[in-house]
Amino acid sequence: MRLVFLGLPGAGKGTQARLVAEHEGIPQISTGDILREHVQVGTRLGIRARAYMDRGDYVPDDVVVEMVIERLSEPDAEKGFILDGFPRTVPQALALEAALERTDRPLSAVLQFVISQGTALQRIVGRFTCPDCGRTYHKEFKPPAQDLVCDLDGTALEKRSDEDEVTVLRRLAVYREQTSPLERFYADRGLLREIEAEADVDTVTERTFAALKDLD
Ligand SMILES: [Zn+2]
Repeated sequence: MRLVFLGLPGAGKGTQARLVAEHEGIPQISTGDILREHVQVGTRLGIRARAYMDRGDYVPDDVVVEMVIERLSEPDAEKGFILDGFPRTVPQALALEAALERTDRPLSAVLQFVISQGTALQRIVGRFTCPDCGRTYHKEFKPPAQDLVCDLDGTALEKRSDEDEVTVLRRLAVYREQTSPLERFYADRGLLREIEAEADVDTVTERTFAALKDLD
């Protein structure tokens, strides 16, 4: 099963990707994680990426694409994979398509988790994270037992710097402009499957597994 998960920030695609990955025994591949790893280890690509990140610039497509393609050739991805947060642009999608064609491993499906801009904003802006264990909370939907303290370890919760309202609005605008065209791109190829993701997590999980039922 070779999958791409698309959706606005806050749509829950990371959570669903984790569940499907566990169930199928395939890796959930997030570009953020790969990027951090390369930078940490100091690979050739990591050093290139670092130069951009240090300047506060986006890492260019060719660097990200090369990292992802390399990751997909690792043994654990042989049975399949879920790309979470990649591709983000049509040029990235074209590069991915070409690379997968070369190895005769085309995508099985692209799942798009659909929520409104308003829901995305509401879900992300109210979110708090425990810096110790990584657990997330939400001031309305999933509040901690004690105000602003992690239920698990008592650590003071923090807001991620990219989750304030102004930054989220900017991320949503970037998505609309650069990532939304991917819906058309994958629909044209007969790969797109939409999942209505405004519902609670369990319902969305059911819909996700139902959408994958006919794939092997
Ligand atoms: Zn914690």
